[in-house]
Amino acid sequence: MVDLQTQYQKIKPEVDQVIFEVIHSTKFIRGPQVKQFEEELANYLNVKHVVACGNGTDALQISLMALDLQPGDEVITADFTFAATVEVIKLLKGKPVLVDVLPDTFNIDPEAVEKAITPRTKAIIPVHLFGQSADMDEIMRIARKYNLAVIEDNAQAIGSDFRFADGTVKKTGTIGTIGTTSFFPSKNLGAYGDGGAIFTDDDRLAHRLRGIVNHGMYKRYYYDEVGVNSRLDTIQAAILRVKLPHLDAYNEARRRAADVYDELFAGCEQVITPYRDPRSKHVFHQYTLKIKNGKRDALADYLKAEGIPFGIYYPVPLHRQKAYADENFRDENFPVTNRLTEEVISLPMHTELDREQQEFIVGKVKNFLRGKV
Ligand SMILES: *Cc1c(COP(=O)(O)O)cnc(C)c1O
Repeated sequence: MVDLQTQYQKIKPEVDQVIFEVIHSTKFIRGPQVKQFEEELANYLNVKHVVACGNGTDALQISLMALDLQPGDEVITADFTFAATVEVIKLLKGKPVLVDVLPDTFNIDPEAVEKAITPRTKAIIPVHLFGQSADMDEIMRIARKYNLAVIEDNAQAIGSDFRFADGTVKKTGTIGTIGTTSFFPSKNLGAYGDGGAIFTDDDRLAHRLRGIVNHGMYKRYYYDEVGVNSRLDTIQAAILRVKLPHLDAYNEARRRAADVYDELFAGCEQVITPYRDPRSKHVFHQYTLKIKNGKRDALADYLKAEGIPFGIYYPVPLHRQKAYADENFRDENFPVTNRLTEEVISLPMHTELDREQQEFIVGKVKNFLRGKV
């Protein structure tokens, strides 16, 4: 699905050098590279504060803690996403309120968000799924109307943006109250281990976030609140400093690969290629097809037998997961997610794909769909 090896070989001398420097300095925790990376990422995103942390899941949890989520507070998020969001809401004793997504972008349905609001709603967490922005015009309108916080889960869309109706363009993750991301190795900006970050323009929130990531400690050995231990390793920060200047080129390479897939699938009626919202730059964390006529599982079996990598993101909607069964979600409220979990399949997508590989992959998919196998 990804080729981190070829990408590494292209930046190897620089990466090896900075890793060696960190080891040589022995400043493994909170070394100077962490702050430098935070500043460089803030600059890239055009946001006031970046707080690095241990991973993208912690980034979500720490954001909710900084917003003072109380037991029983409701947080609205999408049913069709990675489990981290629901998990952290539950860990903090909040109530996850799942809503359905839109069938074209796979992103949270703003109309469903507005319908789910109650007096206990505290925040909305839109996830910019697979690399393109949720409808932030609508999400921000709703948040302002009901005075809610917005945490953008930007783990899959770093470098993407959104163009508002008034023409302003902002990078995803810098639009809401807080934005979060993950540097998991296969993400668009991947470290060589776990890592994450939180973004905000709010000085007061930034101060809280910095305290919470470090045990709730604002002055050395004075603990003002219950925090966590969630830091970005200096080695990871040093590697990310080498990779950040390449992020736009990496995202361009993904977009070019997506263009090639689109072209190769043109006219193939049983396949729906990814919709691109004209308001958002799609950075293709995943290239996700919808397969019609109930053939997705058979296609997956065939690709597996042929040794072609693929992924099914996500095979089970969150509202049906055992871990969250006590929420008693109603299956009939999620018709789009339910259908998507049966139709989607993601093909290899990374910065190193070439046309020949893609022709081979698409050839296999088409062979199967034409019943030639
Ligand atoms: C990867 C991911 C996360 C979690 O990131 P980790 O760094 O693995 O904890 C959260 N949300 C979404 C949408 C993700 O894709």
